[in-house]
Amino acid sequence: MREIHNIVILTGAGISAESGLAIFRGPEGLWEGHRVEDVATPEAFARDPVLVQRFYDARRENLKRVEPNAAHAALARLDEAWPGGLLIVTQNVDDLHERAGAKRLLHMHGELNSAWCRACDMRMAWSGAMGGDPACPGCGVAGRLRPDIVWFGEMPYEMERIDAALMEADLFVSMGTSGNVYPAAGFVQTARYCSARTLEINLEPSIGSYLFDESRTGRAGELVPAWVEEVLK
Ligand SMILES: [Zn+2]
Repeated sequence: MREIHNIVILTGAGISAESGLAIFRGPEGLWEGHRVEDVATPEAFARDPVLVQRFYDARRENLKRVEPNAAHAALARLDEAWPGGLLIVTQNVDDLHERAGAKRLLHMHGELNSAWCRACDMRMAWSGAMGGDPACPGCGVAGRLRPDIVWFGEMPYEMERIDAALMEADLFVSMGTSGNVYPAAGFVQTARYCSARTLEINLEPSIGSYLFDESRTGRAGELVPAWVEEVLK
């Protein structure tokens, strides 16, 4: 096994689930009682912006009632202590990684606590409600803010930076993700192709489990801290 300098970690909904945040890809394709296509597509926002804003306002408000868990804390500790390259790529739109203290972090699907003004193209921190057509603090235009979330059918953020990190990675670890949403589901293949060792940590084996050198199944709150201990030993 080659020596490990650069680590890329992909995290998904399974990491936040143990903090009490709902996973939206349930068996019925529902997210907090809404069909995913009614709240998480650009078409849904064009059709019914009031519903979509109300939905994300509620998700943003709910964030204030949850806390990072042991998996978030362990990754923040690794980020702090790891002397080599490290990038945490999260598919989650919550802020639990950064609240735990992670710094080398990238939100590939956007963030609940960010607004994107379609009038001036500015993105800004946003912790309150976006419904009710507030004015953009940048350009002053009202009613043009949207959640800074990558919806289905839209391009994830910072793909070039992610690809570059995967190509340099010696170890790629996928945590709490079902492995059925592309492009994230393809990261393991890029990492393998570039000779990284690959590990999956998930509640159950994912669809792409066979692509990983190793697969560990169980609760992220237990397995992630144990893995971080191994890496830092
Ligand atoms: Zn603006």
